[in-house]
Amino acid sequence: MNLDQRLADKLELRRQQHLYRKRRILQSPQGAEVVIDGRHCVSFCSNDYLGLANHPRVIKALQDGAARYGVGSGASHLITGHSAAHHALEEELAEFTRRPRALLFSTGYMANLGVIGALAGPRDTVYEDRLNHASLVDAAVLSRARLRRYPHGDMSTLQSQLVCTDKLALIVSDGVFSMDGDLAPVSALAELARNYNASLMIDDAHGLGVLGKTGRGILEQLAINPDDVPVLMGTLGKAFGVFGAFVAGSEELIETLIQQARSYIYTTALPPALAEAARMSLKLSQSEQWRREHLFSLIARFRLGATQLNLPIAASTTPIQPLMIGDSESALTLSEKLYARGIVISAIRPPTVPKGQARLRITLSAAHSEQHVDRLLETLAEVVAV
Ligand SMILES: *Cc1c(COP(=O)(O)O)cnc(C)c1O
Repeated sequence: MNLDQRLADKLELRRQQHLYRKRRILQSPQGAEVVIDGRHCVSFCSNDYLGLANHPRVIKALQDGAARYGVGSGASHLITGHSAAHHALEEELAEFTRRPRALLFSTGYMANLGVIGALAGPRDTVYEDRLNHASLVDAAVLSRARLRRYPHGDMSTLQSQLVCTDKLALIVSDGVFSMDGDLAPVSALAELARNYNASLMIDDAHGLGVLGKTGRGILEQLAINPDDVPVLMGTLGKAFGVFGAFVAGSEELIETLIQQARSYIYTTALPPALAEAARMSLKLSQSEQWRREHLFSLIARFRLGATQLNLPIAASTTPIQPLMIGDSESALTLSEKLYARGIVISAIRPPTVPKGQARLRITLSAAHSEQHVDRLLETLAEVVAV
């Protein structure tokens, strides 16, 4: 059998299992109302939680950044790619997260590979929640450390897995779980880390910009001391609406990453203009407090309406509001019916979520209006009820 025949067989199997993925083509900016495959729709599946991805001032910052620095950064950070724009953004992110330093990475995926690979190696142990983002799991595997996964949020299993050792023990968790929208029990994780001489890393990709009174993320929301979470990772492509990611922590942590994080060292630096755009976005996330307030009023409106309609919502207080459907075929059919009525919500299926837990992952954004949410509820009532 040649390669293409082999692949064709596997693709066919995927299709039969309703797990085949297709891309739709977006012909407009990201936002509440989009044009997808030529159809005008209301979208409920971006991670642009604050509605900053198409903000005129962020666009202007990107344009001005390109005029000043050009387009490509031309080199990695350790050669000549580390511009004044990157440096200023790092300082602002350190200040924002109330930590001594921050380090930019090109993507969140790369940040996670870089950090876990730099910190853990053979004979160390990485402990992860079963529902952690794929990049955190891949990072642990690639680090060659021992990987132990505990059932979602299950602190007693984690405790039974932990052993006091002088090797590195790194506990790693999503802050907000990306497909469920629930929060990690960060205080309990921090306490276990303290008791077992382990270190805690939180990936707050979906919390930063959104949670906490000033958008400083899950740690602000849960009033956690930064010292209890020595490694904080955040992304710039979600609530901040731009692209890129960062790790924030101590002087020693950041210097270690600069020396040893392979996904930091062996790659071209982010375009400086994107760093300028992210700086503007960070500023707007602070000055336009109404974005978070509006977003949370929409979340409450959606949850109230969905409860009245008996829709299978999950226990989430964040903009991620999944409707738990179960089998992949039903989730896919519902997603198609919604699309036919002008509503875009993707069906999330295994292996992104566990088997039998396919869902419609609804996400809300400050770019939505109350009318958008009402239309979503009316359409769900028509489609999901039947
Ligand atoms: C999106 C996401 C990432 C990856 O970030 P990118 O910048 O998109 O590569 C990492 N962790 C979590 C929890 C995420 O949701």
